[in-house]
This record gives sequence, C-alpha cells and structure tokens, in this order.
Amino acid sequence: MSSTLTLTFAGGAGSVTGANFHLTDSVSGMQCLVDCGLFQGASTSLPKNVEPFSYVPADIAFLFVTHSHMDHIGRIPRLVREGFHGVIRSTPATKDLAYEMLKDSLSVLRSEQRKTGIEPPYDDEDIEGAMRLWEGVEYHQDIPISGGLVARLYDSGHILGSAMVSFTREGRTLVITGDLGNSPAPIVRDTEVLPEAHYLVMESVYGDRNHEDRDGRTELLRSLILETVEKKGTLVIPAFSLERTQDVLFEINNFVESHAIPNVPVFMDSPLAIRVTSIYRKYERYYNADVKSVIKSGDDIFKFPHLSFTETREESERINSIPGPKVVIAGSGMSNGGRVRHHERLYLPDAKNTILLVGYQVPGSLGRQLLEGAKKVRIFDTEVPVRARIASVNGYSAHKDMDGLIAFAAQGAKTLEKVFVTLGEPRSSMFLAQRLRDYADLNTHVPEDGETVTLAL
Ligand SMILES: [Zn+2]
Repeated sequence: MSSTLTLTFAGGAGSVTGANFHLTDSVSGMQCLVDCGLFQGASTSLPKNVEPFSYVPADIAFLFVTHSHMDHIGRIPRLVREGFHGVIRSTPATKDLAYEMLKDSLSVLRSEQRKTGIEPPYDDEDIEGAMRLWEGVEYHQDIPISGGLVARLYDSGHILGSAMVSFTREGRTLVITGDLGNSPAPIVRDTEVLPEAHYLVMESVYGDRNHEDRDGRTELLRSLILETVEKKGTLVIPAFSLERTQDVLFEINNFVESHAIPNVPVFMDSPLAIRVTSIYRKYERYYNADVKSVIKSGDDIFKFPHLSFTETREESERINSIPGPKVVIAGSGMSNGGRVRHHERLYLPDAKNTILLVGYQVPGSLGRQLLEGAKKVRIFDTEVPVRARIASVNGYSAHKDMDGLIAFAAQGAKTLEKVFVTLGEPRSSMFLAQRLRDYADLNTHVPEDGETVTLAL
C-alpha cells in the first residue's frame, strides 16, 4: 500500500483544550480537520485562540466535529471568517447544540469587550456562515471524502450527539475519539465498542486518575436535598449548561418520581441550559435504553412537580423572595459569570444554605475559591462572607477515568499499530501512554503540539 495520510496535531496535543487535528491525503491532496476548538483557561481570551491557523482555512475540504463543547468548536466561526468554505459534518444534535453554545459564548465575549476593549474574533454572521456549511449525519453512515477515504461517526457516550470519527481506506482505519464518556451515564448511551482500527488518537483528560465518587454521586445529591429541606435552606448548584445540568435534573426527577425526597421547589435558572434542554428533548433517539423506557412509561424526564424554568431576569429575581427550602440550578458551572453569582451573593452568608460544585473548577474561578475553603469572596465588588456549606462531587464528570480509558483502548489490542495520546495535561497523557504500554501491550506516542506523523492508510 502506498497511500498515506499525514496527521498534524494542530491543537489538543499537550493540552486538554483547543482540539484541532489536521489530515492531508497523499492520494488526492484533500485536507480535512477534526474539531476546531477553543483553548481555555482561567481567562476566556487566551492569545492562542487568535494566532494564525497552521494551515490555509480555504484549502480545507471537510471539518468533522466530534461534539459541541467549546474546546472542540470554539474556533469554527473564526475559521469561516478566514476563508473556510468546505463542508462541516457532525451528528444533527451536535449541530443544534453548537449553534446555542457559539451564540452564548459570543454574548460573553461581547460583555467582556465592554470591560476590556478586546473585540471578539468573530461575529454573528460567522456563526450563521458556519451553520450554512454544516450538515448533520447519523451515526454509522458512510461519508465518502476523496481518494477512496470514507469517514463514519460512532457514539462516544460523552454528551448528547458526541461522536468518534473513523477514516477508512482499503481495510485500514484511523479513529479519533474526541472526548470519551464516563459510561454508564444518566442519559446518553455507553461509548460504543472501538471499531477495528490501526491507528487511534485518544483523549486523556483523566489519564492519571480514577473517579472516586461516581457510585456515591446520586446519594450525595439526595442527602444534600434532604438536608436543605430540613434546614429550610437553599441548595445552589452552579451547573454547566450542557449535559451536567440535564443529568442533575434527571436525577432529581427520579427522586421526585420515586418519592425519595419530599416536595421542594426546584428552579432551573439558566436561559442557555433551558435552550439546551429543549434540544435534548428533540433527540430522544440518542438516549440510553433505561431512559427510553422511563419515557415510554409516560414520564417526562425533564418535568416534575414544583420544577420551574426561569427564563427572564424578572423570573430569576423572583426566586429570591420564595422562602426555603428550595433548589436553584444556575450557570455558570465554575461561577465565572452568569446568574449563579447573584444567588451565591445572596445565599453564601447563611449557614443553612449549601453550594454544590459538580465539576472541575479552574484555578482562579470563584468556584475554585469556594472549593479551597475561602472564608470570604468578592462578588460584584462586594465582599461576601462564606458561611454556607460547600460540597463537591466529581462523579458527574462526563469523561472516562484512567481505568475506563485503558479498557477502551485495550479493545483494539489485536489490530492497533499506534495509539496517539492527546487532549490531556502532559503529565496525564504521559502516564496513560505508559499504562497502555504496560497493561495493554499497545505501542503509544504522546505527540507534541504541532507535530506531524505519517500514517499508512
Ligand atoms: Zn467535551
């Protein structure tokens, strides 16, 4: 076989964020990308996000999108602005969710612009332009590219619509995982079996550690709600709008339906999460079998007595005048912005309230300060004493842990010639690569940012 594919790690090697894989076909000269994500950190506007692309956007024929998290889609509008006019492919759910996420992040960039003067690197027209090039394809459908190459999407079980992408030619296959789900997840399906592959590019966010509290997450959530009811307090859950919010809502729905908690008002106070939830409703076909059977039995998984979706600012403000006990789910997940900060300012000073952190908190964020036990924090230029209980649970992570990642890659031990370990902090990627060598007898490589490799495919 003489045909080759060259793969350049244009983003997402040596870092969790900024996913951007660039492929060039030796047969046809065709170039394509998998993901075009934002680099993320404590600050939202990292200089890396506005650096020139390492390829000519106008020369790219296809862009495959694994899922709708910003670190996989955030630079797409800029790619369009700079001349990309090829074809974008993902599941239809990813397309719908990406639209909401990109619009929301532009509005955040605009509000920051008022303070910093930094202009957003794209505008609404660039988002609309991306949508016009974007077409949904279902899992397992053949997507012919060029020179005999065929792409296909497989369910990665990470968030609604998330996919791994495979590229196959004459019986040889490359799989790029995107992010891999923490199966079994409350709503989405399990990660599919790794298709027979010769090369694998995989994520490694949790490559060096296991999730400790995944079995206890449901019980912890329930016990915090019960405690809140007893203390007549408020349970505030700063939640990531995509997947985590829907997972938490579904868990509370199950408590209510099974009478595991008494009646308590629950407020979903995030316009973005409300829009995302309505997209979830559209794609019930992607839910796991358990959730489908719950729905079939007549239960609406995002609806239960005393649940309100508060869309407008007035509705949001009215939550404050309702006496406890109550549960408030509001964005953003790290309390960097969004409505949750108003609630935190109000509820943090009182010991009968609880703040439940449900995911990773980046250093420097308000969520991180709370997690680290700050006695007082600054919110909207006021000093707020922290007397509320601060609880955290990592079991809602949407990523496979170390053992899960090893078990996933080991499925390919018979055919895999090389595994590229990416999308993790360097320490985590190195650790996983070593484990894959030792425990699954796989040939691994941790690519550097910008490195190019040649694949026989
Ligand atoms: Zn993700």
